[in-house]
Amino acid sequence: MSQAAATTAPKDDVVRCDACPVLCRIRPGKAGACDRYANVNGMLTRVDPLVITERAATEGSVVPFLSGSEGWNGSVAAPAPLPAASFVTGIGAGTTYPDYKPAPFIVSSQHDGVDMVTVVTEGIFSYCGVKVKIDTDRYLGPEQAAVRVNGEAVGHVTTAEYGSQMLSLGGVHHLTGGSKKEGTVTCDTLLALCNKQAVTLQIDGGSELVVQAGRPPVVNGTPEARMRVGCGSATIGIFAKQWLGHADEVIVVDDHITGVLTEHQAGRFLDMPLSGVRVRGRKSTPGRYFQVADPGLGWGGTNISDPLEIVENIDAKTAWPGMKLLMVSTTGEHSAWYVLDDQLKPQPAEMPAPIRLVVDRIAENCEPSLCTVLFMAGAGGSLRAGVTENPVRLTLSVKDRLTRVTSGGAPVYVWPGGGITYMVDVARMPDNSFGYVPTPALVAPIEFTLRRDDYAALGGHMDYVVQLDDVLQAGRLSKLAQRADNPWPITRPTAEEQP
Ligand code: SF4
Repeated sequence: MSQAAATTAPKDDVVRCDACPVLCRIRPGKAGACDRYANVNGMLTRVDPLVITERAATEGSVVPFLSGSEGWNGSVAAPAPLPAASFVTGIGAGTTYPDYKPAPFIVSSQHDGVDMVTVVTEGIFSYCGVKVKIDTDRYLGPEQAAVRVNGEAVGHVTTAEYGSQMLSLGGVHHLTGGSKKEGTVTCDTLLALCNKQAVTLQIDGGSELVVQAGRPPVVNGTPEARMRVGCGSATIGIFAKQWLGHADEVIVVDDHITGVLTEHQAGRFLDMPLSGVRVRGRKSTPGRYFQVADPGLGWGGTNISDPLEIVENIDAKTAWPGMKLLMVSTTGEHSAWYVLDDQLKPQPAEMPAPIRLVVDRIAENCEPSLCTVLFMAGAGGSLRAGVTENPVRLTLSVKDRLTRVTSGGAPVYVWPGGGITYMVDVARMPDNSFGYVPTPALVAPIEFTLRRDDYAALGGHMDYVVQLDDVLQAGRLSKLAQRADNPWPITRPTAEEQP
């Protein structure tokens, strides 16, 4: 067990869990509805161990938790070796409900000779969801289309980003604003995605895809491999010089901007003669065309499988027999080489080695296609009451960067503006960091770390502060090495990490 949580007096060996509004009555040897609490010998017990992350002794470059130039003697000597250290995460810590109670663990430790406090809890988030970034140009579905799991709407397609399609899943309207089934399916979907499991999603009017944090997406059964090097125009710009002397025209097929080399500014700068090949679509600026085809799963995120479909005409006054034409996609996955015959019709031909080299280089410059899952939630008024009797002071302390917020020891991004609305990359958190309660809502670890004197000043629950060593010696613990790419949580947040 991790620790006993709040409970009412046993009656008939049944204990009532009051760690969330469901108030399960749990029989001996059984677990509550969320599987997080159980009745162990008449004691309400958090089932999972408390997760501790550990930093090995090493030379580091972390920022000491000091303000301004305090403690700095002006030298630029190499950072001193850091002692080994432990950090208590919220994973397995337990929840407090109703919220007037202090957080389950308020832990005192030292960092660089400064007394620190970390307030640790598992927050229940009814306002939460995930933003999913899917590195692909393939058409997943129209913007605003519903994303479904087992027929239930769990979110929608949102605005695409550069080289990636984006989904917004969960949120309070799907969790609690629809039918009970919709809420349950949404909660299950978020829980699986946050715990780094694969989930199959169907998009209205679009594709079926399998999404898993840190893994390539699978679109309509096909695993995606590459993220495009850039849009068609960018690809022209990057490789124009490498095509010079080997091709008379290059068309980079892209659902966003299709590039035509000899018209494009890059071709003009290289004094390439116009080829007379005119593509379909709406001309944006010279050599840059929008909407050459519909979106789809073909070349460059369009629906075409034969690239010549986008050639509207070839101007006989400008083109010439023997003209060499390359058509290629923004990932280099699709490419074709043509030579114009005497009737100025493109005829397929064997691609010369220097052209093949550049096509391969496009592919080489593509990053691996991945799914990224960011959990987003608001640490509301009630959760903050577990930290301080005066919750707005915690919010202000976070804004002033006196308090670092972490989730399972991973860094978070706190949105500017009101509240403590944060996002965390679930891939940087320990496995299975998340739980749920059937209200439905997600349970996620959250830690607030600040100087002890700052904690006292914001009205912290000082009577409940315990020593780190006491926590490390009590209860059932799971110790994990701190991820090298995560900042040590007991350090001052940088301006980039938190506003
Ligand atoms: S769902 Fe879980 S946290 Fe809520 S009352 Fe039941 S056992 Fe306790």
